[in-house]
Amino acid sequence: MTISVFDLFKIGIGPSSSHTVGPMRAAASFALALREQGLLGRIRRVQVRLYGSLSATGVGHATDRACLLGLMGQWPDRIDPATIEPRIGQLMQERCLMLDGSHPLAFDYDRDMLLLDESLPYHPNAMTLEAQGEQGLLFSQTYYSIGGGFIVEQGEIDAPRDDAHRVTLPYEFSSADQLLALCKAHGLSVSQLMMANERAWRCEEDVRQGLLGIWSAMRECVANGLRNEGTLPGGLNVKRRAARLHRSLQELGKPNVIGSTLSAMEWVNLFALAVNEENAAGGRMVTAPTNGAAGIIPAVLHYYMKFNPDACDDDVVAFLLAAAAVGILCKKNASISGAEVGCQGEVGSACSMAAAGLAEVLGATPAQLENAAEIALEHNLGLTCDPVGGLVQVPCIERNAIAAVKAINAVQMALRGDGEHFISLDRVIRTMRDTGADMHANYKETSRGGLAVAFVEC
Ligand code: SF4
Repeated sequence: MTISVFDLFKIGIGPSSSHTVGPMRAAASFALALREQGLLGRIRRVQVRLYGSLSATGVGHATDRACLLGLMGQWPDRIDPATIEPRIGQLMQERCLMLDGSHPLAFDYDRDMLLLDESLPYHPNAMTLEAQGEQGLLFSQTYYSIGGGFIVEQGEIDAPRDDAHRVTLPYEFSSADQLLALCKAHGLSVSQLMMANERAWRCEEDVRQGLLGIWSAMRECVANGLRNEGTLPGGLNVKRRAARLHRSLQELGKPNVIGSTLSAMEWVNLFALAVNEENAAGGRMVTAPTNGAAGIIPAVLHYYMKFNPDACDDDVVAFLLAAAAVGILCKKNASISGAEVGCQGEVGSACSMAAAGLAEVLGATPAQLENAAEIALEHNLGLTCDPVGGLVQVPCIERNAIAAVKAINAVQMALRGDGEHFISLDRVIRTMRDTGADMHANYKETSRGGLAVAFVEC
């Protein structure tokens, strides 16, 4: 499996990478396939079947709406979030789905959107789309949303692509040990090695511009989060906090106001809250590496850029590349999906990635970087996924702020050492995988355990 930095950082919409972005991409791919096969004009009905976790928390995560938008030919990186409500409202009112944006089709939500109490064996996030004509089934496809917006078709599982289709990387690595050995053997930092690998897909200038585009989207998301106020959608009546906190932190900068000695940490909290509130509201954001955990990396990068007067675009590129190296290790050797391994796979992986990115730009050796990533992940082990009401709000929003601060602390600890430490990052990632395998299904994005059932609405 070859994974690019642009697989881990994708511009999308909230609130969930596995439950919103992935299903929307799957449905848009389905609509595209119908167009390419010349079937659009023959279709009389489309049915969506959601299984497992997609069904259990699908409405809270807007999976159903994401599928409808995808069937309309909309993609998560291109859709204007402001058009989502009107599009869905019109569909529900007129009971008409504009398939691929061009073919009107009668759509009865209760009949055609099925949230099933069943699971498919390959992955908990499964969905099947069916297109029927006058004479019966015309085309069907099953998709798995495997975390971080990645989707896999059933056909790819039944008949994996052969090695001829694989991109060959100059510095292929599947473990942190291999990564460190390659850095040492070739005299490269982690970000330099990652840049060399990225050049297998695109030239260096394109990688650089692409990553600066990701950073720009992260900044825009924070700016929106600092501006927008009110209550988050979904019925829990969770109030947005970022705008108010921002005003209060700006006050701290004025003379004669007694400020917190921990104001840098409060700014980190602020950046994370801003991103995750935007995500919860279905806004434009960057999957990093998932939506639920999307606030951690931007918060730590904003912290570095705000408090380091010498910070520049080169640092942004190096930060994101080094963070992606650790994301690749987590994805290859465990999972970044809450439905597979619980929140340790989402917030834990993002925390570890953020620590790697910050360590890189603060001048850590590859060994110190690995140590920082290890500390950050180790102290997220066992973290369950139990979002109240199936919404990516409680505990997700605050959890990102806590993890962002944790990532910074992990870097501080690692930079005080020489990179030598007791448990390797590889072992911690394996432990995350094994802990996830042992974790009861109630704690894997089903909202059937933990805080999700402790909350009683009154
Ligand atoms: S609890 Fe963690 S894994 Fe679950 S939805 Fe929230 S952020 Fe994602």
